[in-house]
Amino acid sequence: MSKNVLVLADIRDGELRNVALECLAAASRVADGGVVTATVFGSKRKETVEQLSHHGADQVVTVSDTRLDSYTTDAYFQAFKQVIEKVNPDVILTGHTAVGRDVSPRIAARLELGLISDCTEVEVVDGKMVFTRPIYAGKAFVKKSVREGTVFATLRPNNIPVLEADTSRSAVVEELEVTFAEDAIRTLVKEVVRKTTDGVDLSEARVVVSGGRGVKSEDGFKPLQELADVLGGAVGASRGACDAGYCDYALQIGQTGKVVTPDLYIACGISGAIQHLAGMSNSKVIVAINKDPEASIFSVADYGIVGDLFEVVPMLTEEFKKV
Ligand code: FAD
Repeated sequence: MSKNVLVLADIRDGELRNVALECLAAASRVADGGVVTATVFGSKRKETVEQLSHHGADQVVTVSDTRLDSYTTDAYFQAFKQVIEKVNPDVILTGHTAVGRDVSPRIAARLELGLISDCTEVEVVDGKMVFTRPIYAGKAFVKKSVREGTVFATLRPNNIPVLEADTSRSAVVEELEVTFAEDAIRTLVKEVVRKTTDGVDLSEARVVVSGGRGVKSEDGFKPLQELADVLGGAVGASRGACDAGYCDYALQIGQTGKVVTPDLYIACGISGAIQHLAGMSNSKVIVAINKDPEASIFSVADYGIVGDLFEVVPMLTEEFKKV
């Protein structure tokens, strides 16, 4: 049966995040002839609208209010709720990003919808939408479906392949005037202070080179950054490295940090504690570099290198430079 699907397009620094296109790909799988609508918030979104329509949106609802240029819970909540009321979708999808994780439960609670969060796969089985999500810190997966009512899910970045861009597609674009109740927006973003360097976004990076306590110092991250640069990837870290003050907590991967699913995860000097594995064990290919052959990280690694990271990482960088 056809389903009308609504996707909240996640924007960061004015750019559409890849996970929005992944949500559109998931939407096209489940729509079965229904309308796929994307909604995008904030001013100056012309290019974004084009990208969305080239990647599967049949309709784009824009809310061009400057109060939505930077994410705030209240403003996004108000706008998203009004878009949902207008579109009346059968299925709602958002990225499992800082924005999706914050606004989706609030919407679900307010509209009394169920929410399946952090999904890594979306499929239709015997006409039913089935969502896969990791449980027990990534040790197992559970498949869930919704028995009745609107289906609402957040999708973990980097898991659903994006549809190939079709530049001949053009979506129907509609501007929605939203009304913000008086005193509804209780916070205002005055300044964004960036803790990480510009570059590839860690959550969406195809390659992550991650350092642990084994990097031994802030300077120890430099060879990792060089390798990440050569591979077009981002640098991550274990909490051990963050706690030791070698890097910022913005880089932390794991249960209490970011969850990443890159094509390639290179763990350097990381022991492989369960809390770290929770954030990276679903990476497609895992390479571990560790001096200790008994390190638990090797139990999840596809390729293990027993050795000193300060020798191995520069060697890898030199070899990848030749490719
Ligand atoms: P270590 O365990 O000290 O390992 C360092 C590794 O480096 C060792 O295996 C060593 O053999 C290797 N090594 C040393 N020198 C070299 C060298 N020159 N070359 C190669 N290898 C070398 N951790 C996270 O990462 N993310 C989380 O989100 C997280 N959340 C947590 C939440 C809770 C509630 C708790 C209790 C803990 C959490 N932790 C988290 C911490 C976690 O339990 C571990 O303490 C942490 O992951 C260890 O970091 P590490 O692997 O860098 O350090």
